[in-house]
Amino acid sequence: MPQQIVKQRSRGFICINAHPEGCARNVQHQIDAVLQARPAGTIGPKNVLVIGSSTGYGLATRIAAAWGFGAKTLGVFFERPPDGNRTASAGYYNTAALHRLAREAGLWAEGLNVDAFSGEGKQQTIDLIRQGMGKVDLVVYSLASPRRTHPKTGEIFNSALKTIGDPFTGKTVDLSSGEVKEITIEPATELEISDTIAVMGGEDWKLWIELLLSEGLLADGARTVAYSYVGPRLTWPIYRHGTIGIAKKDLEETAHWLDTRLASAVGGNAWVSVNKAVVTQASAAIPVVSLYISLLFRVMKQRGSHEGCIEQISRLCFDQLAAGKTVATDDGRLIRLDDREMQDDVQSEVAELWSRVTTENLLEISDFGTFRQEFSNLFGFHVDGVDYEALAETDVTL
Ligand code: NAD
Repeated sequence: MPQQIVKQRSRGFICINAHPEGCARNVQHQIDAVLQARPAGTIGPKNVLVIGSSTGYGLATRIAAAWGFGAKTLGVFFERPPDGNRTASAGYYNTAALHRLAREAGLWAEGLNVDAFSGEGKQQTIDLIRQGMGKVDLVVYSLASPRRTHPKTGEIFNSALKTIGDPFTGKTVDLSSGEVKEITIEPATELEISDTIAVMGGEDWKLWIELLLSEGLLADGARTVAYSYVGPRLTWPIYRHGTIGIAKKDLEETAHWLDTRLASAVGGNAWVSVNKAVVTQASAAIPVVSLYISLLFRVMKQRGSHEGCIEQISRLCFDQLAAGKTVATDDGRLIRLDDREMQDDVQSEVAELWSRVTTENLLEISDFGTFRQEFSNLFGFHVDGVDYEALAETDVTL
């Protein structure tokens, strides 16, 4: 069992290792937050499948379902295991900690480290549901991936973060240096647009639900939710109106289709939940959005309305998905967990800060320091209470 002192190693802004103890503490913090938010006597889904469950919104969903509802949770994720002196990825350590803490709490929790897009990954999931979990009553789709291999054709699709139509020039922040600068994002080709839809659109979600239905593994009244983001106008050229936004619109269309399908098959429902911007491995990679998040955090913290993944997902679970609650949606049938982010007064204050943010005033008028800290935290670094000079066991099993 290799024990080693694990210091944060970065390439550019990206962290290439992870700290097992720091990741475990992050999971424990989220469990504590759920136990605190959980209304007494709440009940909800009992068998929950989370696809994309090891970090970000998917991890928060597993934790909220398990510790909030006492649900059996099965997580599907794609993470790097430890290899000799090389640490595992953060999502691997998060999942190992979640499984250990779940066992200690007497909760059934299993995970599959597989490519969720693949036929084999889906089949292994089906087998595990049949053997150990029983019919699923909630399926949460929380994948964020740069590529997908099509399970039938073997074709590889790469998603792109580009505009559609015209190039866009706007402000962004260099996450390594803290320099606020202009960036020009080129428009995507037709192939890049269709590839991004193939990766982040609704096709794979639909394949999962169809497979679960055909195997008879969805419970009566089963529900499914996939996550999306809308954000303010200033990010629309790169997000909502860009390649990723088109893919998310495809996901929303899929939700309508699946809603009808599930209603007739098992009396169930499908929704897309639009969540707030938070720091995750996926969101930090999006230019413009990272600067917006730094300003947004400042404004929402000052108003006391700031939330991370676990607070958002606790609201989704306890206010909407719990027994006896009604799922509230907007005119487009979207669940809006981003309601506090999108409030007019929040957005006008962010827009005012956006108009004058520069390298010189970045730390003063934004929460860029917190952004960086939260980004390190994702990998288990700079987490309170962890002794980073002590030996850590990196060869952890799931
Ligand atoms: P994340 O990068 O933290 O998590 C992605 C998850 O997908 C991980 O568990 C990873 O292991 C898994 N994954 C990736 N490729 C996989 C594969 N081939 N097979 C199995 N698992 C795979 O991302 P996130 O930010 O939590 O995003 C999750 C969803 O939430 C996305 O749909 C995203 O658009 C949405 N969302 C994110 C934000 C934000 O600010 N981060 C805001 C609103 C909505």
